[in-house]
Amino acid sequence: MFDAKTTCVVVVGAQWGDEGKGKLVDVLAERADFVVRYQGGANAGHTVVIGDKQFILRQIPSGILHRGVTCIIGNGVVLEPENLFAELDQLHQRGIDTTGRLFVSDRAHLVLPYHKLLDAASEKNQKLGTTGRGIGPAYEDKYGRRGIRVVDLRRVECARPLLTERVRRANQLLEMMGSNERADLDQHVELLERLAPKLTPLAADTGLMVHHAVREGRRVLLEGAQGALLDVDHGTYPYVTSSNTTSGGAAVGSGVGPTAIDGVLGVVKAYTTRVGNGPLPTEAESPYGERLRELGGEFGAVTGRPRRCGWFDATVVRYAARVNGLTGLAVTKLDVLDSFTEIPVGIGYRLAGKTCDEMPAEVDALSRVQPVYEIHKGWQEPTGAVRRLVDLPPAARAYLNRLEELSGVPVRYVSVGTRRDQIIEV
Ligand code: GDP
Repeated sequence: MFDAKTTCVVVVGAQWGDEGKGKLVDVLAERADFVVRYQGGANAGHTVVIGDKQFILRQIPSGILHRGVTCIIGNGVVLEPENLFAELDQLHQRGIDTTGRLFVSDRAHLVLPYHKLLDAASEKNQKLGTTGRGIGPAYEDKYGRRGIRVVDLRRVECARPLLTERVRRANQLLEMMGSNERADLDQHVELLERLAPKLTPLAADTGLMVHHAVREGRRVLLEGAQGALLDVDHGTYPYVTSSNTTSGGAAVGSGVGPTAIDGVLGVVKAYTTRVGNGPLPTEAESPYGERLRELGGEFGAVTGRPRRCGWFDATVVRYAARVNGLTGLAVTKLDVLDSFTEIPVGIGYRLAGKTCDEMPAEVDALSRVQPVYEIHKGWQEPTGAVRRLVDLPPAARAYLNRLEELSGVPVRYVSVGTRRDQIIEV
């Protein structure tokens, strides 16, 4: 992905998240100087397997597992500080030194306990299938211009005046929503006072750091969380996340201009999954959905929730290619399809008897579309040991060629297993 002309690359999920971006970023981070998270919060949950160790990183970029890489949590992220330190402790316990390699944007907003209470109360009423980590309410506060940012911790003596109005407002909302929970002001003040001395040493003008890195031709990876169909603007609204997951969000959320970005790699599974509520047109019928879930280990990294599973949906990926400006595709979990005799691929939709080639804006229309399938012959051979495209079974190559053709984006990587070395570079 990186070459002389391509030094700043965005990696995004091009379906509904959980595409295996964590592993891809981990492989690419080996060649990067900087890895930047630009949106989302502790709801991300990348799983990376190195040797026999499994790491679940929610906020810290997985690039942290590589010694020479500087990791940044950008201004577009909403940061859950206690979770950040728990993650750091875990890394330190496993012997990973993060000294001088992890920075948090001074402009990033904080997720505080009252955000979690609000999230739980609103999920009870709205049922969007959120992870309940307070991400949505923290973004609401950011756009409502009443957020608390990392930079505010530099003047921790202002914690009480800053928090008084926010906690009062949160409690009013909780009451309105019929919740019996209440946020406690003293607890929040104590939390900020306790966090300030730990967090402020990590705080920096990270936009400036990324800017310098790009100008110096350092290799910069901007790491997205979730996927295109969960983008607040382009996703299946309202069953979306609260931030821009697509590549445009990478510029805003890391603090550089869009002209700094040289390439956008979209990560897709060789099939489709979705966690939470909302339509999934190519959802597989029983027993295929269960089989995909079992073989692919499709359970949420953060919540353990079983994911809904279905076939590759070309309409989704074509759409993701357009709204992200994808320049390359990474297809993951090809190995999960190894044992299937037939593999359907959704090539389009029919809606009310008419062809529908583009993603409809109404979520209701998407839940009514009929997918049009093309049936591919399975290869029925293990692919986990393959490292070159030419060594894949012909039916697997034909399958990948078809995905490339349908999505209009060249396949650059194929992942054939959970391990870092189980990857084919095209
Ligand atoms: P992310 O948030 O997009 O990184 O996705 P998750 O980490 O939630 O889910 C990816 C899961 O799939 C993890 O358990 C990975 O170890 C696993 N995974 C990634 N790539 C592959 C692959 O090519 N084959 C298989 N079988 N598992 C994979």
